[in-house]
Amino acid sequence: MAVYNGPLCRVCRAQGKKLFLKGDRCFTKKCSLERNRGIPGQKQVALHFNKPTDYKIHLMEKQKVKNTYGVLERQFRRYFDLAIRQKEIPTGDKLLEILERRLDNVVFRMGFSTNRRTARQLVSHGHILVNSKKVNIPSYTAKKGDVIEIKESSRQIPSIKTSLDEKSTFPTWLEVNKESFRGEVKAVPSIPELSLDVNPTLIVELYSK
Ligand code: SF4
Repeated sequence: MAVYNGPLCRVCRAQGKKLFLKGDRCFTKKCSLERNRGIPGQKQVALHFNKPTDYKIHLMEKQKVKNTYGVLERQFRRYFDLAIRQKEIPTGDKLLEILERRLDNVVFRMGFSTNRRTARQLVSHGHILVNSKKVNIPSYTAKKGDVIEIKESSRQIPSIKTSLDEKSTFPTWLEVNKESFRGEVKAVPSIPELSLDVNPTLIVELYSK
C-alpha cells in the first residue's frame, strides 16, 4: 500500500500547521515547526503574507487530512467515493469515519504507538492480531466488535510498552485493556469526539468542483 515515507516535519512545514505526526516529539521544543523553519523550498515570508486563494484553502484542508492519516491521493479519493455513495451521514463525516477506522489509526488510538507512522509499521511488520488472526494491512477497515491486540511475542517491544504506559485516555468508541495489550472496537467513531482541527466540508466542496 503506497504511503508517504518522507520526512514528517516537512509535511507540517508545507502545511504551515502542526499536524502532530511524530507523537511525543511534537509536544517538545524539538518540533521543527516551533523552531520556525518555514515552508520547504519557499521563503518563510510567503507563508505569512500571501493571502491564500479559495482553492488553496480547500486544497490545504484536504492535504492536512491526507497527511494526518498518511494516505496518498488515490486511496484518499477512493475513501471519498465510498463516503459520497452512502446517504446516512454527511459525506465529510463519513470520510473521517472511514479514515479513523483504518487499522493503523486504531492501533495508534489504542495507544500501542505514539504516532500513526509507527502504528502502520506495527501492522505491516505483523505485530497486530485482529480477532486472533494476523492482519498486516494498515488500510484494513476495523468494524464494531473487532478485537485488536498485540501479538504475544511482540508485547516486549519497548516502544509499545512505553506508549501504552503513557496513554491514559481513550476514545469512547474503543475499549482498551492495557494489561492484556488488547482493545475492542465498541462502536463506529463519533466525528465530534475526534477533536480534529478539520473542516471536512471544504474537502467535499473541493472534490465537487
Ligand atoms: Fe509536525 Fe511533529 Fe514535526 Fe512538529 S515535530 S513539525 S508537529 S511532525
